Amino acid sequence: MFRYAEVLVDVANRRLDQSFHYLIPESLIIKKGMRVLVSLQNRKVQGLVVDVTDNLPEELEGCTLKPVLEIVDKDSLVPQELIELAHWLAQTTICSLAQSLHTVWPLFKGKIEVWIVLESSLADPDVLTLEWLDPEAFRGLKVLSRAREKAISFKVFLKRANIAESTLDKLISQGWVRKEFRFKAPKGSSLPGETPDLKQESNPRDCLDSGAKTYELTKEQAVAVGSVLTALKEGSPQTILLHGVTGSGKTEVYRELIARVLEQGGDAILLVPEISLTSQVAGFFEKHFGEKVIVLHSGLGQREKMKAWLDILAGKKKIVIGARSAVFAPLPNLRLIILDEEHDGAFKQDENPKYHARDVARKRMEHRKGVVLLGSATPSLEAYAAAQSGKIGLLTMTARIGKSMLPPVEIVDMRDELRQGNRSIFSSSLQEKLKDRLDKGEQTMLFLNRRGYSTFVVCRECGYVVSCPNCEIALTYHTQGQAMRCHYCDYQEQPPHTCPQCGSRYIRFFGQGTQRVEEELQGLFPEIPTLRLDFDTTRTKEAHHIILERFRRQEAAVLVGTQMMAKGLDFPNVTLVGVIAADQTLNMPDFRARERTFQLLTQVAGRAGRSDKPGEVVIQTYSPYDSAVVKAAHHDFQGFFWEEIRYRKERKYPPYTHIIRVLLLHEREDRVIKGAHDLGECLQQGMGDHEFGNNELDILGPAPAVLPRLRNQWRWQISVKGTQQDRLRTFLHQGVQRFFARPSSNGIILNIEVDPL
Ligand code: ADP
Ligand code: ZN
Ligand code: ZN
Repeated sequence: MFRYAEVLVDVANRRLDQSFHYLIPESLIIKKGMRVLVSLQNRKVQGLVVDVTDNLPEELEGCTLKPVLEIVDKDSLVPQELIELAHWLAQTTICSLAQSLHTVWPLFKGKIEVWIVLESSLADPDVLTLEWLDPEAFRGLKVLSRAREKAISFKVFLKRANIAESTLDKLISQGWVRKEFRFKAPKGSSLPGETPDLKQESNPRDCLDSGAKTYELTKEQAVAVGSVLTALKEGSPQTILLHGVTGSGKTEVYRELIARVLEQGGDAILLVPEISLTSQVAGFFEKHFGEKVIVLHSGLGQREKMKAWLDILAGKKKIVIGARSAVFAPLPNLRLIILDEEHDGAFKQDENPKYHARDVARKRMEHRKGVVLLGSATPSLEAYAAAQSGKIGLLTMTARIGKSMLPPVEIVDMRDELRQGNRSIFSSSLQEKLKDRLDKGEQTMLFLNRRGYSTFVVCRECGYVVSCPNCEIALTYHTQGQAMRCHYCDYQEQPPHTCPQCGSRYIRFFGQGTQRVEEELQGLFPEIPTLRLDFDTTRTKEAHHIILERFRRQEAAVLVGTQMMAKGLDFPNVTLVGVIAADQTLNMPDFRARERTFQLLTQVAGRAGRSDKPGEVVIQTYSPYDSAVVKAAHHDFQGFFWEEIRYRKERKYPPYTHIIRVLLLHEREDRVIKGAHDLGECLQQGMGDHEFGNNELDILGPAPAVLPRLRNQWRWQISVKGTQQDRLRTFLHQGVQRFFARPSSNGIILNIEVDPL
């Protein structure tokens, strides 16, 4: 009986591309996750074994297959669990296995070295006195027997023993030595199977004495920790939502939990939305757990990533902290995955595989019977609804630590300001409060949703908006370089003096950018130092950190920035927070706009009054009665949730339904429109299937996408909405197959996203 290996081959571009089947020769023991050498179009190429089977797929039956040539790694470098995870990921997010594997295991590059190893049974030097071996071969064995670990790299061996390659072949065929392929790991890392440093085995509590402060847990914190530990002990996989108001001490809960998990021999992953924004958190855990922590971030080079992977795999690291992709870290004893700021959109990847870290975490813990802990002050509607229905656990922390109180929030109606003749970006209330803070030497944070000097250029007479010729979205004017730029493709042009449409001279910058806010602020209070934190000021790797550090050291009285600042920052001297225009988020073309607004306002408000000094929040808006604004002002998550969930239910939006969105792309508009309508027809045909109930499925569209043209491609979209995700997937799959049979599908790129955010 034959066995076969399905091998993903590293074809052009050094990327995992396509899989092929190879015959496994009897001499080789092959496991999933091993790298092998195979022949492809008469080239010897490296591939990754993704499956080992006794049966060939039908279409290959009767074909002659080539054998696997050699094994590359001593052992599997990808744990079985992660390979299965990749299969699951490909299926649920609708992408190729190659794409999902590339995400799960980013280390396909890497040098392989051939080593010559003395067979262990012959390691006894006495054996080597056997004189009947020819002198050249004898010399080789002697050299090997003296080498460390009885092994020498191939090239060095030939040189040092001064023997011919044919002699070596003879030694191999007679069983004296064997060839071994070694992954050339960066310095200081160890391969799987090798023993980790014993130093690392010390009691995790030791680190806690190293000067890092730990608090006695509050009652709420202790209950939260206890509940998660109980869930872990029960050993049935669970997801638990930790809903704790800003400043309730969630980080301390994470720390204590991780310490306890480590004591029990387990490993943990802590995911944060964007590592660059949360270096504080990483620093906190490094202080407490020292060398056991590894922080994964996008700044790591290929070699560093490889070293990190190997260290984690070898058990040298116990705690992985990172953004979304760290959810795949190959920790051998993973027991706990924490998602901090669970509601954050950054946990969803927007290119293939379009996964959500929450789902991957749940899948991994299902396998290992561990716990996924979702922490947030403003949980996603999906998570909170799941907790309400008992599908996941719920822990609540309602009190802020110590004396700090949730700040009072004032909503300012900007329409009134205009009526009273105030044309400034700043309402009179915000101006007064700012002045008060400046007098007292306290700090202020001002939030805005967009970057740039002015959001767009509009003709006051005819309404013409200057937009990007490639993307058809409004261009943004930047004072630096005095140019208008496209945020998507970086197209640039000079601002016009007269309107290209009607010739009017009243074509003006409109909207409020961080730069404009900073300038107007400096106009009002010329003497005060300000800092700005937005996309433009944080282009370099370190800029973000530096700006925040300067603000922490109180080099500036006011920090102006985008929602980048809303995440997990803790500045004790900030007592005033202003939101310049809540409307920017409120008016996004998306059913989640209100949820986003509520989250943003709540997070932002949580930045004020984090210490004993009381804080205050001002929200400026043209929609002062919207429930997202009003409930956020009252710190009323429950109130907002029940109102919003009713709307979702009525309009059949998630979490009551699942949505799969198909984006169709083509350079020619007529082709994409025809394609979209044809796909719509193909899907409609599937609706006739008696399997699907009347109300189970909806097809939305076809319609132009929110961004109808991007990077020179026209974009149309169709969404399907339904209550059961797997049935929805099958339905879509069949429709797409039908579409592919039509000529109009030719050249159209389909971009499919399950549960888009
Ligand atoms: P959250 O993440 O819930 O917004 P943090 O974890 O930032 O809150 O905690 C708020 C502040 O309270 C931090 O300065 C933290 O050091 C402090 N803190 C947390 N737990 C305790 C405790 N048990 N006793 C005293 N201070 C604590
Ligand atoms: Zn005009
Ligand atoms: Zn563009």
